Amino acid sequence: MEMLRRVSKRSQVTSHPENPIQLLTDKLPATYQPIVKPLIRQQSELFGVPESAFEGRGAETFARSPYGSDSDTLDSEIYTHGSVLIVISVHESVRILNRRNDEGDIVAFEDKTSIVRVTYAIPSVNPVDLSEFERFVGEVWEGIELQEVITSPRRIREIAAGKPNTTNAPTPEELGAAEALSDKAVRMLAIAIKSSSGLLLGDAPKQIPPRERGRVDEIVQILIAQKLVETEVVIVCAKTSAQVNRVPSVDVLADLDKYGMRCACGRPLSAEKNEKALSITDFGRSLLDGSAWLSFLVLQYLLDFGVPSRNIRMEQEYSGEEIDCLAEIYGRLVLFELKDKEFNLGNAYSFGAKVGIFRPDVPVIVTTERVGADARDHFVRSANVGKTSRRFSEESSTGDSMIFIEGLENLRSGLEGVVTEIASAALAPPLRTAFAFASANPTALLSAWSGIDWSSKSVRPRKRQGS
Ligand SMILES: [Zn+2]
Repeated sequence: MEMLRRVSKRSQVTSHPENPIQLLTDKLPATYQPIVKPLIRQQSELFGVPESAFEGRGAETFARSPYGSDSDTLDSEIYTHGSVLIVISVHESVRILNRRNDEGDIVAFEDKTSIVRVTYAIPSVNPVDLSEFERFVGEVWEGIELQEVITSPRRIREIAAGKPNTTNAPTPEELGAAEALSDKAVRMLAIAIKSSSGLLLGDAPKQIPPRERGRVDEIVQILIAQKLVETEVVIVCAKTSAQVNRVPSVDVLADLDKYGMRCACGRPLSAEKNEKALSITDFGRSLLDGSAWLSFLVLQYLLDFGVPSRNIRMEQEYSGEEIDCLAEIYGRLVLFELKDKEFNLGNAYSFGAKVGIFRPDVPVIVTTERVGADARDHFVRSANVGKTSRRFSEESSTGDSMIFIEGLENLRSGLEGVVTEIASAALAPPLRTAFAFASANPTALLSAWSGIDWSSKSVRPRKRQGS
């Protein structure tokens, strides 16, 4: 699965220089390959008309401007630079405003706004150095200050209705422990230790699947290293086989003998059998409760993929519903349901209700196991019902695009896929605008075509294949 991120920047400028895109293309090193201008050149050659036939594309060429009707795109270009795709567009909008002059008369004047937009399509989670390109942009528009445009989480704020965002990025300790717990055998043993009041080390292998038992020492070491579990020593009475005491380590037994502490049978504690036991730490309990470890992983991956933390809400209650994760990604609302078990029919009804309330653009189910067949059937049925009932209502993708991420081995790539799909949808409008500049205005093309001096052209006979 490949990854795609969008970085969008804009700046208002005092004015545009003459033919700014050409100016920029001339300045840029050869590592920046323009696309639109060469496409125009090639088409003008194919038609045999001057490039001017491709000029004068106004608002009529792209009636649906992604930036609102009041903004006119003057020019646009696409550059490829290594793996990065760059779209730059030059906008100018003019508003007529009324103002009183010194004599007190109302006069109309033009209020011109000039804007430069740069959109990057970046197929990587790693940061990319954009400073070189922006330095050349700064040479064309002096004093330009490109600011990153971060879509504000408008829909999340509506849903939250004033409830503050309590989401914090996981600490390195929490993330390390969460990653350790994503190993099923590690998690099974941790849960067994949590539910027992101290699990004897000798009983640990019984808590994990037979094929994993060879790893039991390694698993115990992982749990201890991640501070999820601590060891203690259980004193077992040799006479009654009852657990009589727990101590942090065998080292304290000598001291306890000194104080005269003894087993109920009368023997000193150091003379009794002792066995190592495992108990859950407060930290371990906090990660296992409500599968917080799974939330940490989802949150961290979303942050890795460039979703800003203020656009993510974890484990909050809205409209009386428990929300595992709500994210607004490039303006699209994504509702996540996280389950550390098979996702069953009951879960499907409950999630279906949440989808009905919050109407996400993309509903996502994350399960460490599978989405059960009856749950799947339920979603297919309700999507079909939804299609007919929504026939005359507003267009919505809700319910049609339920995404299942099954198994933790697919978690990262699954989330990457969700973010990538939304990013490409968000990247389409600026690209569409740029491509509009690569196509001819039919009227100008026909006028140029009719003006060609045909007598000067020799007719080239076309070769036919097979004749
Ligand atoms: Zn005893």
